[in-house]
Amino acid sequence: MAKILHGVTVQTDILNRLKPRVQKLKRPPGLAVILVGHDPASEIYVRSKIKACAEVGMFSEKISPPETVTTEELVAMVEGLNARQDIDGILVQMPLPKHVDTRRVLETVAVDKDADGFHPVNVGYLVAGRPAPKACTPAGIIELLKLYKIPMAGANAVVVGRSDIVGKPMALMLLHENATVTIAHSRTKGLAEVCRRADILVAAIGKPAFVTADFIAPGATVVDVGINRVTDAAEAARLGRGEEFASKGRAIVGDVHPLDVERVAGAYTPVPGGVGPLTIAMLMANTVELAELHQSVASA
Ligand code: NDP
Repeated sequence: MAKILHGVTVQTDILNRLKPRVQKLKRPPGLAVILVGHDPASEIYVRSKIKACAEVGMFSEKISPPETVTTEELVAMVEGLNARQDIDGILVQMPLPKHVDTRRVLETVAVDKDADGFHPVNVGYLVAGRPAPKACTPAGIIELLKLYKIPMAGANAVVVGRSDIVGKPMALMLLHENATVTIAHSRTKGLAEVCRRADILVAAIGKPAFVTADFIAPGATVVDVGINRVTDAAEAARLGRGEEFASKGRAIVGDVHPLDVERVAGAYTPVPGGVGPLTIAMLMANTVELAELHQSVASA
């Protein structure tokens, strides 16, 4: 039976390491979260982020403009936060409404307040291997692999998915850990065979249970980034989530087949309880680092 890599354990470890750093600061690190509209999933994510801030001793502020907010208004909000001394990190919760120019809003966030690590300048620092806020989900995965002592140096790592927020930064971070990295995507030929070469397989696709037993080398470490809602009872039952469906009317599954991974992998992250908590922990870590930077600059 494969070993389960628990995200909550890693989250607790990361948050516990942050607490003494927060206590050393002259004022609590401040995170501002902009949440547009009332998307239920985004509201849940933001609530857990704000809860984590309180746990670490950080100050947080939620700004909730209506769905009708314009690009100009959002840009003005971000500029206001950029100018505030008590705010160290700014997070704009995705997705933004279709009429908003997402790129413009994200690029307005000051490079040294970019709690999500999405600003192109910080992406450039990541490519160059220089310290800067890093995309939270892949950075958390690296912490998880380190904490569970999964060897990365020399390992064959395959990342399925090439988004700017998960796949690409994940591949770069694994490369910095000296893995031999392959990035696969929707145009990759012979995907299952490519994946079977992986000692570490990261799935960030957005398709429920897409990665099945034939993608996984026996004993491999499988990291499942996907969060997908299954709304068909028969499908949920087929994936071993019949009980969850019966009680909640839906099941949450990752991009990896939950029964197959348990049978074939050496270790894996479950969904839920795997990658999700890591993303939140690294958001806190980025904000604390930015606060340390701001306060050392202020006292210099
Ligand atoms: P995107 O939709 O931006 O990217 C999906 C990637 O998967 C693309 O690169 C796409 O390839 C690739 N892909 C799609 N279909 C296939 C296929 N059939 N074969 C191979 N590759 C395929 O998604 P994100 O990266 O933003 O998110 C991925 C998943 O992770 C989602 O389920 C999301 O909800 C979840 N997520 C979870 C987080 C967490 O904290 N746990 C945080 C962020 C995301 P191509 O580029 O060729 O189209």
